[in-house]
Amino acid sequence: MCGIVGYLGMKQAAPMLVSGLKRLEYRGYDSFGIATIGSSLVSAKKCGRISESDGYAASLEGRMGIGHTRWATHGVPNDVNSHPHLDCTGSIAIVHNGIIENYSVLRRHLEGRGHHFASETDTEVIVHIIEEYYTGDLLEAVKKTLPHLEGSYAILAIAENDPRIIAAREASPLVLGIGDGEWFAASDMTPLLDYTQQVVFLEDGDIAALSPDGICVFHEGVEVSRSAERIEWDIEAAKKGGFAHFMLKEIFEQPKVFYDSVSAAIDPATIRAIQDAGGLMVVACGTSYHAALIFRYLIEQLCQIPVRVELASEFKYFTPPMQDLVIAVTQSGETADTIAALKMAKAHNCGTLGITNVLGSSVTRVADHIVYTQAGPEISVAATKSFIAQIAVFLNLINNLCDRQYDEVLHTVHQAIETVLLEDISVAAEYCKRAHDIFFIGRGVMYPAALEGALKMKEITYIHAEGYAAGELKHGPFSLLSPETPVVALCTPGDSYAVMLSNIKEVKARGAPVIGIGREGDRELAEVADVMISVPPTHPLTDIVTTSVVLQLLAYHTANALGRDIDKPRNLAKSVTVE
Ligand code: GLU
Repeated sequence: MCGIVGYLGMKQAAPMLVSGLKRLEYRGYDSFGIATIGSSLVSAKKCGRISESDGYAASLEGRMGIGHTRWATHGVPNDVNSHPHLDCTGSIAIVHNGIIENYSVLRRHLEGRGHHFASETDTEVIVHIIEEYYTGDLLEAVKKTLPHLEGSYAILAIAENDPRIIAAREASPLVLGIGDGEWFAASDMTPLLDYTQQVVFLEDGDIAALSPDGICVFHEGVEVSRSAERIEWDIEAAKKGGFAHFMLKEIFEQPKVFYDSVSAAIDPATIRAIQDAGGLMVVACGTSYHAALIFRYLIEQLCQIPVRVELASEFKYFTPPMQDLVIAVTQSGETADTIAALKMAKAHNCGTLGITNVLGSSVTRVADHIVYTQAGPEISVAATKSFIAQIAVFLNLINNLCDRQYDEVLHTVHQAIETVLLEDISVAAEYCKRAHDIFFIGRGVMYPAALEGALKMKEITYIHAEGYAAGELKHGPFSLLSPETPVVALCTPGDSYAVMLSNIKEVKARGAPVIGIGREGDRELAEVADVMISVPPTHPLTDIVTTSVVLQLLAYHTANALGRDIDKPRNLAKSVTVE
């Protein structure tokens, strides 16, 4: 949540910050702001999106500065609550990602000492504490400030008479970039890709000083060395490349993403850790949670390994009995609840495995084993290719556990996805566009696929949608069925096929239109459904992937027909780094 960026070098900082914030906008987009230091400290901030701003911010002078694009947690999105926040003298500025949990106590104390607060944010306390300690050395002032803060933060600070940007992190992501005579700091690497592939990942508790002489990192008061890593992500992957939306581009990247993720080598020690575990537990949130449920259905059936799947956001408040190996699934590697759950598992001496898309992210530093999804940068807030990549990684693990007996099937799935991408979804999207409520139903592994289909639909269309195990519909939700309530039925061959057809007929008998997703050539389904969308007739393991892609396309085309802001749906942000 929220994107922060800093620049120090020979170029004018403001245009660099503005273009960096545009790349980070998917992390938060209710307001933005920058501060630069030229002859003095100047700032510009505004409610609204930087991509729609008037360009004033880019005209600020100075060769160093910091910027922020916000996803409000404390205080409504407005000009005043936007970052950067300044101290009482207007000569120190900070941007912050995270939540300062003890801010109200700190604020009362600081107000008692005469500090004037301009905003309602938790963030503003930080800059006033820095002001208390600042005597001309910003690094020292920040070092003294941090012990007062409880909660999570990634912070960038600048001060008028100090030539450095001071960066600090605790449970919020922050990465530094090393360019040619220029230095960067950002919430993730997307703004850096235009300028450098050399990055330094900061660790929790690190404080860094970026200066014209380079980067120094301190941890617990002593200088430490943090080696630079080379990132291979391609800048083109973070651009729209002719597609109307990032989401559509990312959906179309899935054949390659699936292939790369299902084929990547997995450390044999990771496979052994799964084999040796008496039981597995997977913790995740949102779309990653649905991928984890799909994993559970598949691995329990194919490998007879018992799996619990838990919502990471519930974990802290209802800690289930621990299992030998706890697997955390997080696209960004920074999801606060998932990281907290994984740390709790570690504290209980469980083995840990992280599945993530982002090199160097927090989960990679906590987990004993890591498997990377090969999705590349995902910009659209709604997860698509990262979900398909997670399923591919899970299938890759299962294939390794089963002596690679699914090699042949798994290496044809990408072709089936290519076929599905050509499907005409427009008629089904018309049905959905007119609805106030949509149900998604499936049985077996298609049940979690239905949950994800409903999530995608509500996320980007703002139409209420719910996923149900098909047998559950008549235990309550039937009362809601009407001709205005389309039901999307996932009905591919398998043990539940016949009973799914019966469920579809029951739905039809209540007057609800049915959008059936099934195998090409399935005449029975085509006859009973109002609209049928086909997936290629291949293998059950392929069906779960192709059906999921159809559901993404259905959500996309419905949202597009409604003219929604597809890549940045209201109230949401990517990478949920607060609890
Ligand atoms: N808690 C801060 C605020 O509400 C920062 C939120 C963010 O991470 O964007 O302003």
